[in-house]
Amino acid sequence: MNLAQRTPHVVIVGAGYAGLPCALELARQKNAKRTRITLVNREPRQELVCDLYRALRNGRPELFPFLKTLRKHGIHFVEGSAHGFEPEAKLLHVRGDRAQSIAYDELVVATGSKAKLPQIDGLQELLDGPSPLDRRVFLFRNNTQVQALRLALRRIDWSPESRPGGRDLFCVIVGAGTTGLEVAGELATFRGRNPACRIVLVDGKPDILPDFPMLARNIYKRDLRRARVETVLGSPATKLTEKELHIENGQVIPWDLLILCSGGRSTSTLRAFGPAASDEGLAASANLGIAGWPHHHVIGDLARPDGVGLPLTAQLAGQSGRFVARKIAAALSTGRTPRDAFEANDLGSLVSFGPYAGVGRLGGAPESPLGRLVSPFVFGPPVDELKRAAKIRYLWGLR
Ligand SMILES: Cc1cc2nc3c(=O)[nH]c(=O)nc-3n(C[C@H](O)[C@H](O)[C@H](O)COP(=O)(O)OP(=O)(O)OC[C@H]3O[C@@H](n4cnc5c(N)ncnc54)[C@H](O)[C@@H]3O)c2cc1C
Repeated sequence: MNLAQRTPHVVIVGAGYAGLPCALELARQKNAKRTRITLVNREPRQELVCDLYRALRNGRPELFPFLKTLRKHGIHFVEGSAHGFEPEAKLLHVRGDRAQSIAYDELVVATGSKAKLPQIDGLQELLDGPSPLDRRVFLFRNNTQVQALRLALRRIDWSPESRPGGRDLFCVIVGAGTTGLEVAGELATFRGRNPACRIVLVDGKPDILPDFPMLARNIYKRDLRRARVETVLGSPATKLTEKELHIENGQVIPWDLLILCSGGRSTSTLRAFGPAASDEGLAASANLGIAGWPHHHVIGDLARPDGVGLPLTAQLAGQSGRFVARKIAAALSTGRTPRDAFEANDLGSLVSFGPYAGVGRLGGAPESPLGRLVSPFVFGPPVDELKRAAKIRYLWGLR
């Protein structure tokens, strides 16, 4: 039986900001009504990672349980971890309650980027070592990790009198990207005016928010200074001991809590795609087909159209997911894959700093030096409100 006679099967791996909108958009396409859609994800819910900073603030989980929505749209769900790809045979191997192999006609890979530990000697031992109650090193990628961090923050006695020998208490954040900055903002609010608690942001990169207009960057730096968040930039952390973090430039920072906010991709399970897979993600054509593999597509953080990584934002992940859904629907109904290139049409980005500060870049990413100086941005209390509105808009789009 050829594809024209039977129901085509589209499998989407990963139900994050790219995979979930992709599955729903495909289900909504009129010309894909005869298509069987399967979504594979480790859990039957999405971690709303863009709003994790708010979970740190108020303790309420930031999750979207999507089973009801999938049922409504007739999308089949498989709970499990995809651990093997066989693109030649069009087979996907999934490990869950039971192991299964899923045959497909079209595959969309949307497994995102995974926390890759920064190369710091001694880090792994301290991360693995203590029992949850004694934990002092935290990742910041999902609700469980954020709740553990919150618990540790609440257990600390923040009063200056409690410091042994009057020593200050150090919360060190490794990674001064947008996540690290938002975490610093929350910790600064949490710490209040206590002068004995120090918040230190460490990054190998020389500056924060490099893609933001210069004025916006300066406003954020002013917020950091006002909130007494210290920064150690331009030199990476290299070694961690029980009490100290060593920086390549010779600085040594004492630490009591360490929060890892450095990103990174992990693509080990994608090696089956050969040269298309690298530590940078999956190389794709301009229309987000995986290079060298017809009927295979990549969206979200993993996608590198024409070898170039897209900015890692939820906004772009969703746009790429919906784009590929429409492309597959058109291909299934006409038998020809549209060649239109994916074009990111909104590169806006919002970075909060506690509930009342932060900056946001609007529209496209400024390319020229003049653009970096003058392109539109927002700052102050509207940033948190706009982030809240973006979450509501995202969830509304999933109905
Ligand atoms: C803490 C944090 C804060 C962020 N804040 C913002 C922000 O404010 N604004 C913004 O625009 N962007 C933000 N980002 C970036 C944004 O979240 C990403 O760009 C976006 O999540 C990418 O979407 P994705 O679908 O590619 O990957 P993800 O959303 O990470 O989804 C990947 C999904 O695949 C699943 N998965 C992975 N491997 C497998 C497997 N082998 N088998 C089955 N399932 C698998 C995962 O469980 C997950 O559900 C933030 C990221 C983080 C980590």
